[in-house]
Amino acid sequence: MDGHDRSAREQQATQFVGELEDAGVVAVALTFVDNSGITRVKSVPVAKLPAAAAWGVGMSPVFDAFRLDDMILSGTHAGSPVGDLRLHPDIGRLTVLAGQPGWAWAPVDRYDQDGMAHPQCSRLLAARMVEALAEQGLTAWMAFEVEWVVSAGDGDEFVAGCQGPAYGMTRISELSDYSVDVLAALAAQGISVDQFHPEYGAGQLELSVAAESPVDAADTFVLVRETIRAVSLRHGLRVSFSPKVAVDGVGNGAHVHLSLWSDDTNVMNGADGGFGLSATAASFSAGILHRLPALLAVGAPSVASYLRLIPSHWAGAFACWGLENRETALRFITGPAGNRHQSANLEVKCLDATANPYLVVAGLLAAGLAGLADEAKLPEPVTFDPATVSAQERVAAGIDQLPSSLEEAVAAFEKEPALRAAFGPELATTIVELRRYEMELFADSSPEEIAALTRWKH
Ligand code: GLU
Ligand code: MG
Repeated sequence: MDGHDRSAREQQATQFVGELEDAGVVAVALTFVDNSGITRVKSVPVAKLPAAAAWGVGMSPVFDAFRLDDMILSGTHAGSPVGDLRLHPDIGRLTVLAGQPGWAWAPVDRYDQDGMAHPQCSRLLAARMVEALAEQGLTAWMAFEVEWVVSAGDGDEFVAGCQGPAYGMTRISELSDYSVDVLAALAAQGISVDQFHPEYGAGQLELSVAAESPVDAADTFVLVRETIRAVSLRHGLRVSFSPKVAVDGVGNGAHVHLSLWSDDTNVMNGADGGFGLSATAASFSAGILHRLPALLAVGAPSVASYLRLIPSHWAGAFACWGLENRETALRFITGPAGNRHQSANLEVKCLDATANPYLVVAGLLAAGLAGLADEAKLPEPVTFDPATVSAQERVAAGIDQLPSSLEEAVAAFEKEPALRAAFGPELATTIVELRRYEMELFADSSPEEIAALTRWKH
């Protein structure tokens, strides 16, 4: 970042100060997501936003090493108390927060004091992967699905905030004002919600949003969750996005929908390959499929993730793909006839909201790009629930179960050159060290203790 960039940023932010003040905004929350998937924040009064845009707001690089329990890892490339970074808000995403009157929000990129990109900034990494895809003449569109539970209790126990049955209209009646407030807040913030419904688990709800460019999709995932949290608190509800809120219940996923475009054409539709996939889209998808075990170290990055990622829970616990198959990790969706040129997409189901969404975006794009480079081929699609056939039949069909522990996922990540190269040595090492720490933290814990300690963090 040079002097020209700084003054352009300052001017851009200055244009919005009056508008923010007219909207009653007092302060702007500047967020990034750390390597443990937790959204961390600094804030500035509105008048200081232009200076923050130009010069950044100081924050220690130690946050790369922040752990789930707020303790600090003493890592190879992270955890030192020495040094400083500058948080530069992306004014393009500046949003007045409808669920938190007096507040606005913007996501930040992290640079050093000389204006150089911080090697462990996941948002800048995601943007670099979008550029690498553009160099191949391709664009990706993505959206994160948000699943959450509402809890009515005062304490740390989960007490379902509604009693109606799964997918039942009763839940919408019980939570009628709350649901309207969530949807109205998102609409006021310019978020294009596609659908909202009660989910399967106790107190569980789900909301999906329109696809956007990948970095925007990750920003939106942060904004939607914080909006849901703020509205929930105003209704006396606590909210959890954790992969396993109650050990015997169904988990919260954070599925990513992804389509690949070339010259305004969705290359996941209209070609000769299976279900209309082009060779390019098939190689990109195969690149993701082959790297799913390693991708889980960023996409299902907590010990609690593996309480969720089990067969027959629609979490996508098997490394395979299929058309509209909710038990394959990759569910291919054509959408309705007549709209497939728009709607065909790949849903990556095995991910959850303990992940940093910018790392998820970066990892998926890096894996897809590696698939393009290898001209990878997709295996046969799977047309059944892999859990319903014998282990021998799964072997015959070439279906592996995905890692059933964080340990297995980290081992796969360490052996995965494409992801490690894309992330760079500093970030890749920090990710591995943080995951190892979390494994140690929970080494002697019961599933109930793991669920309890993870429940309110993300
Ligand atoms: N809650 C399920 C999960 O853990 C997903 C249900 C669905 O397919 O929407 O991913
Ligand atoms: Mg769902």
